[in-house]
Amino acid sequence: MAVAGVQAGEWLGLVVATVAALVLAAVATVAWWRQRKHGSRLHRSLDAATTALDTMRSRDQLTGLLTRAEFETLLDDVALGCDRDGTAAALLYIGLDNFRTINDGYGHRVGDEVLRQAARRLSDAVGEQPVVARIGGDEFALVVPAGPGGAAPVAEQVLATLQRPFTVEDMSLQLPASVGIALYPEHASRPLWVAHATLAMRTVKHGGGGGYTPYHPAMAADQREAAQLLQDLRQAIAGRQLSLLYQPKLDARSMQVTAAEALLRWEHPRRGLVSPAVFIPLAERYGLINALGRWVIDEACRQAAIWRQQGLRMRIAINVSGHQMRQDDLVDHIEAALRRHGIPPGRFTCEITESVAMEDTAQTQRAFERLRRAGLHVSIDDFGTGHSSLALLRRLPAAELKIDRAFVTDLATSAHARSIAQAVVQMARTLGLRVVAEGVETEAQRDLLLAMGCDELQGYLFAKPMNATALALWAQEEPTPERPAFRSSLFALTRPDTDTP
Ligand code: C2E
Ligand code: MG
Ligand code: MG
Repeated sequence: MAVAGVQAGEWLGLVVATVAALVLAAVATVAWWRQRKHGSRLHRSLDAATTALDTMRSRDQLTGLLTRAEFETLLDDVALGCDRDGTAAALLYIGLDNFRTINDGYGHRVGDEVLRQAARRLSDAVGEQPVVARIGGDEFALVVPAGPGGAAPVAEQVLATLQRPFTVEDMSLQLPASVGIALYPEHASRPLWVAHATLAMRTVKHGGGGGYTPYHPAMAADQREAAQLLQDLRQAIAGRQLSLLYQPKLDARSMQVTAAEALLRWEHPRRGLVSPAVFIPLAERYGLINALGRWVIDEACRQAAIWRQQGLRMRIAINVSGHQMRQDDLVDHIEAALRRHGIPPGRFTCEITESVAMEDTAQTQRAFERLRRAGLHVSIDDFGTGHSSLALLRRLPAAELKIDRAFVTDLATSAHARSIAQAVVQMARTLGLRVVAEGVETEAQRDLLLAMGCDELQGYLFAKPMNATALALWAQEEPTPERPAFRSSLFALTRPDTDTP
C-alpha cells in the first residue's frame, strides 16, 4: 500500500503539475495572442503617427508649403536630375520686405494671414507642383527649371503677384518683396545653392528691397558698394542729379537732322558723372528702372515740346529697357506724357535693344503690340549683337534698325564687319525698315555706310551727345559739309510732313 500510496501520490503530483502547466500555457497563449493583437494595433498607430509626423515635418503648419528640410531633399533630386540631363534649374529665394512692421503694427493674426495669402499666391504663380517652401518667418523659396532667358520672367511674376495689396480684415496691406536667384549648376554647387540665392536676396534687401537679382560671384564684395550706389540712385531723381543729353541722327543723303536720341546722365554728388553703362544695369536689377524710365519719358517729352515751339521738329528718341517693356503701363505712360506736351506719337521713337526685342515672351510681344497700336515709332537698337529670328523680326512693328557701333567701328579694317553691315542693310531693305548706323567717327566709315545704302547716320563725326541748350545753338550754326542743315526755318520748310507718323 505504501508503494501504492507513493505511486498514487506521484500520479497526483504529475496530474497537478500537468494541469498547472496546461493552465500556464493557456494563460501564456492568451497573453501572447493579446499582446500580438495589441502589438499590430500599436504598429499600425505608430505607422499612422509617423506618416502624420512626416507630413507635419514636410508641410509648414501655417501655409501648407514645404518646409526647409523637405525643400532641401527636393533640391537634391532636382540637382541630380540636372546633372543627369545636362539641364539647369533656378532657385528663387524670396523675402517679404518690412514684414516685421505688419506683425508689430497689426499683431500676429494679421501677419499670419498675410503669410498664408503670400504662400497661396506663390503656389498659384508657379503652378500645382509642390516646389514652393517656407524657409523661415517671412522667407520663401521655390525651384523651377531655368529657361533660356534665365529665371528673370519667373522673378518678375513673383514680384508682380506679391505686389498686389493683401486684404486682411478690411485692411489693404502692401508689402514689397526681394528675390535672389541662383542657377544650378551655373551659380553654385549643390551645397551652396541656397546660400547663394540667399546672398542675392540680401543684396536686393540692402539696396532697399522691391526687386530681384541673380547671384554674382563678386556679390559679397560688391554688396556694400552696390547698395550704396543704389541708395544714392534712389535719391538721384528727387535730387535733380539726372539729366538728358541729346545726340542727333542725320539723314545720310540730305544731312538733315531727323531725330535726337536722349541719353541719360547721372551727376553723382561725390563720384562725378556715372555712366549709364554702370547705373542702368543696376537700376534694372534692383527694380529702379521704371522710376528712371518714367523720368526720361517725361523729361524727353518736355524738351521736345520746347524744341517744337522753337521750330525744331525732329523726332525725339528714348532708350527703353527690357524691364520697362515688361511693364503693363509703359505705353499708357508714354501716351499720357505725349498728350501733356502735345507731341504726336509718330514723332516719338522707342529704341529697344535687339536682345530684348527678340524675347519671344508674351509680355514683351504684348508691349510691341501696344506700341504699334499707339502709333509710336519703334527702333531696334544695337542690331547685330543679338540672335535675331527673322520670323520674329518680320512680325515686330519696328520702323528702324540701328547697326551696332561695334560693326561700324571695324568697317574700315574688317571685311567681316563690312559684310555684316551690308547684310543688315539689305535685310532691312527687304523688310521695309530704315537703317541707322550709330557710332560713326570717321569719314571713311561714313563713306562706306553711304555706299551700302544706310538711311541715317549718328556719331561723334557729326555731333557728340550734348545738352538741350547746346543742341539748339548747334542747330543755328551755319551748315558745312559735315555740319547738317538744321536751322529751324529750313528744317520746318523741308519737312512739311513731320507730324505724320
Ligand atoms: P545706345 O542707346 O546704343 O547709345 C549709344 C551710345 O554710344 C551712347 O553712350 C553714346 O554716347 C555713344 N556714342 C554715340 N556716338 C558715338 C561715337 O561716335 N563713338 C563712340 N565711342 N560712342 C558713341 P552712352 O550715352 O554712354 O549710353 C550707353 C548706353 O546706355 C546706351 O546705348 C543705352 O543702351 C543706355 N542708355 C542711355 N540712356 C538710357 C536711358 O535713358 N534708358 C535706358 N534704358 N538706357 C539708356
Ligand atoms: Mg540707343
Ligand atoms: Mg546702340
